[in-house]
Amino acid sequence: MSVRMILASKNAHKLVELRRILEQVGLDIDLVGISEFPDLPDVDETGTSFAANALLKARAISAFTGLPAIADDSGISVDALNGMPGIYSARWAGTHGDDEANLNLLIAQLDHVPAKRRGAAFHCAAAIVTPEGDERVVEGTLDGVLITERRGSNGFGYDPIFMPLGHQVTTAEMSDAQKDAISHRGRALQALAPVIEQLIPKAKKH
Ligand code: IMP
Repeated sequence: MSVRMILASKNAHKLVELRRILEQVGLDIDLVGISEFPDLPDVDETGTSFAANALLKARAISAFTGLPAIADDSGISVDALNGMPGIYSARWAGTHGDDEANLNLLIAQLDHVPAKRRGAAFHCAAAIVTPEGDERVVEGTLDGVLITERRGSNGFGYDPIFMPLGHQVTTAEMSDAQKDAISHRGRALQALAPVIEQLIPKAKKH
């Protein structure tokens, strides 16, 4: 029998991606999104790290639903800005989730930064919390450089100026599958699969 689990995200793409990864590693998990629980409370991201914020969300959603819960938190760290925006990536220009304003601000802030100092990395922490109180966090990183002008229209957030190391295209010029294979989130979710198997052995297909 499959094990029910909730992903603390409204993003349908994340749900599809994690379902595919769980399937690949042979875990029989019925993964649902938070849209199935319309009364879920909003969780304030008051942590000081990606890991702390992912844990806060997973704990709150597991406590509310009584299900094992997975949550992630991600952002971009820019070398020339001493690692910022970091956990403030989603609200760098002031309004939470205003991707356009956030990207414009970052482009302007890096206006005079030369090519050799334009390093950056996407980070993602993925947490799982079970109703029994077990907690684990894993992380994934994607290193790259920030180009000066936007390229590509896929993806979201800072993708149009982020070029992963070893690639000649931005993550906004990659297909979903190409990006998932190398991305911070893809790597964190990949790393989470064996942790889930360890915490919830009955999810393993026989
Ligand atoms: P969240 O973890 O979904 O809250 O995302 C945090 C913020 O980090 C997003 O709003 C984006 O600004 C940025 N971010 C995280 N992952 C990516 C990515 O894969 N591409 C572009 N921007 C990202």
